Amino acid sequence: MTNNFRAILLSKDNDKQSVEITRLGESDLMEGDVTVRVEYSTVNYKDGLAITGAIPIVRVWPMIPGIDFAGTVETSSDPAFAPGDRVLANGWGLGEMHFGGYAEKARVPADWLIRVPENMSTAQAMAVGTAGYTAMLCVMALESAGIDPSASDIIVTGAAGGVGSVAIALLAKLGYRVVASTGRPEESGYLKDLGAAQVIDRNELSEPGSPLGAERWAGGIDAVGSHTLANVLAQIKYGGAVAACGLAQGPDLPATVMPFILRGVKLLGVDSVMAPKELRQEAWRRLGQELDLDKLDAITSHITLKEVPEMATKILSGQVRGRLVVDIA
Ligand code: NDP
Repeated sequence: MTNNFRAILLSKDNDKQSVEITRLGESDLMEGDVTVRVEYSTVNYKDGLAITGAIPIVRVWPMIPGIDFAGTVETSSDPAFAPGDRVLANGWGLGEMHFGGYAEKARVPADWLIRVPENMSTAQAMAVGTAGYTAMLCVMALESAGIDPSASDIIVTGAAGGVGSVAIALLAKLGYRVVASTGRPEESGYLKDLGAAQVIDRNELSEPGSPLGAERWAGGIDAVGSHTLANVLAQIKYGGAVAACGLAQGPDLPATVMPFILRGVKLLGVDSVMAPKELRQEAWRRLGQELDLDKLDAITSHITLKEVPEMATKILSGQVRGRLVVDIA
């Protein structure tokens, strides 16, 4: 079979990682029931880690990176999907162990696919992408811990990034009072347009702090980890909760148990990669209903496949605002 689609391919020779745009054929694709014509993918922080090799994300070589994609089903041997269906996938090892989204075609197990919400285009589904869907998982985690909109305030760290931007838009739409923590004060206007009631400098949270501080937040969504998460925990009000999903500052957690044992604070771990299908479907259903699509468009920039390696480097240095959609077709 001819090599009939373009793909980014990550290869490793000894310890040296390289990235190229190449052409592959369908016979190169991995096992799966459904072949999808990929229309859009995205650049998430994890894609940055994979493409640069900053942290060993890729476990099978060579690899088509890209932890998510949206497109249209071309062929399916599973009755759950038919040609023409609009679908998306994220996680499940895409771009790590199974060929991912930076290619014009993808083949995956039917179980990994979610239908694109009715009111969203495939481009908008990827403007949400892994980061936005993770933001929704964080919101749902806070809700399940009893943090409702009457609780004030909710702190969102890594605010101008992908998870942070969507989290702010979602929380504000649901009626929460949101405080955005950012290292980019020039993005205050952007963050307030998304719905942040207040913007603080991330330096307030990023340095080593006390085990317990003044009670400032009813809840938090943290994409940053390290001292930031430790300080957020130390400042959570009695009975509050933090949904932790990221490590942009670092994977360490230099905290004490004091917030847990003196204030009953809950630390809620959020994983998007292996989240069960029912939870994903519920998150995407809610994203379709509750995310303001004008706000989504405002946080989204589009790039081409060729620009992915450069943006992979930029996202790791915090230079990307909101969401980056890769136009594959
Ligand atoms: P982005 O790069 O878009 O956002 C991260 C943001 O964190 C930056 O925009 C910046 O926000 C802030 N930041 C960056 N570096 C630092 C630092 N050194 N100290 C403090 N803040 C910093 O990434 P994503 O939104 O795609 O992902 C955010 C995090 O969530 C990543 O760690 C990612 O791996 C993780 N993640 C986890 C998932 C899961 O399944 N658990 C799924 C998706 C993402 P600002 O400029 O506003 O300060």
